[in-house]
Amino acid sequence: MPVEIARRSPEELEEFRRLPFTEVCFRVVKPFAGPEVPEEILWQVVSEAINFPVKLISLSPALHILELFHGPTLAFKDFGARFMARLMGYFVRSESRPLTVLVATSGDTGSAVAHGFLGVSGIRVVILYPSKRISEAQEKQFTTLGENITALEVSGTFDDCQRLVKQAFSDAELNKRAFITSANSINIGRLLPQMFYHVAAYRQLPVASVPLIVSVPSGNFGNLTAGIFAKRIGLPVARFVASTNANDVVPEYLRTGEFHPRAAKPTFSNAMDVGSPNNFPRLLDLCRNRLEYVQREIWGHGATDEETLIVMKSLHERFGYIADPHTAVGVLGWEAYRGEHPEPAQGLVLATAHPAKFADIVARAIGAAPPLPDRLAAYLQRPKLSQAISSHYDDFKQFLLAH
Ligand SMILES: *Cc1c(COP(=O)(O)O)cnc(C)c1O
Repeated sequence: MPVEIARRSPEELEEFRRLPFTEVCFRVVKPFAGPEVPEEILWQVVSEAINFPVKLISLSPALHILELFHGPTLAFKDFGARFMARLMGYFVRSESRPLTVLVATSGDTGSAVAHGFLGVSGIRVVILYPSKRISEAQEKQFTTLGENITALEVSGTFDDCQRLVKQAFSDAELNKRAFITSANSINIGRLLPQMFYHVAAYRQLPVASVPLIVSVPSGNFGNLTAGIFAKRIGLPVARFVASTNANDVVPEYLRTGEFHPRAAKPTFSNAMDVGSPNNFPRLLDLCRNRLEYVQREIWGHGATDEETLIVMKSLHERFGYIADPHTAVGVLGWEAYRGEHPEPAQGLVLATAHPAKFADIVARAIGAAPPLPDRLAAYLQRPKLSQAISSHYDDFKQFLLAH
């Protein structure tokens, strides 16, 4: 956690609306970076990492969608992964050995991390994924890159991949001979840049006299935690909605005061299938560990898969808007909030993934697959470069030592 989250002056907040976006992102993150990262490096990190737009789509005066999926892997994780990768590149600059980032993926994390680190010097990425258990679109997004990204196709399951990575970290001999690390999703370097798009919303939203409610499709709750950081520096947010799927341990906590982590259940919004959200302690800390403060800041709603399909269909029919299942869960959270809070408010829903990444579920909801963006289509054409490997630890270790 940051030691301090300083509130910015009204003048500075006003400048956040006017200055170029890169400049504003730099100003937002600078106090958190402190003296460890020189200004010119931080500027370079911000300007290289945040090189794609954040689009605000207003479906009605009360419902705005903030599209965070215009980065290279078509999901909001690009903000965090690209920023953290460049920052890590800076911190390992004086190492003589290259740093190897090990990632086990069941689909989506692999591509955000791989693209984040692509071309960052001094770092190579080794991604392990279970053979034949992920979609072709997911596989092609991180196995076709080359350069400093190596994909290992493991004959086994995702659990095997995770076991191999964990074993590598606890192997003293390997750690002496190779410089390895993870790209953990709770890394603060991934959270801080997620404040940027709250600023982007603040810049683009029409000035309204009614309170702003921000609905965040949530799994590990990094996205919502960053939203509270953004509010603490002064951005006007009345309340957040923790919008989850059936994995609703946080909405349940907000209702009952009891927090019961449990095994994740599979749903249509699978990037949010998290039964034990690892940023929950951060949320509590931000709210002084008191239930009533958490409730003042966040309202919660857990949606079912059926509701998710229905709202995807109705968004398409009413507005011609195609939402991915995660974004749809966000819309459901806002609608549920509004149902219980009739006073005037405007809702902002974070759109966390491009619908084409979940084409089969979109097709189920609206009767047709969404158009494939050029970027995704281009990957599908490229040859897969992964290397096959068994699920035996010794083979993996040999690979790491030989490369
Ligand atoms: C990771 C992810 C989420 C959840 O974000 P958290 O910060 O883990 O709460 C939501 N939607 C999509 C598409 C994601 O990839």
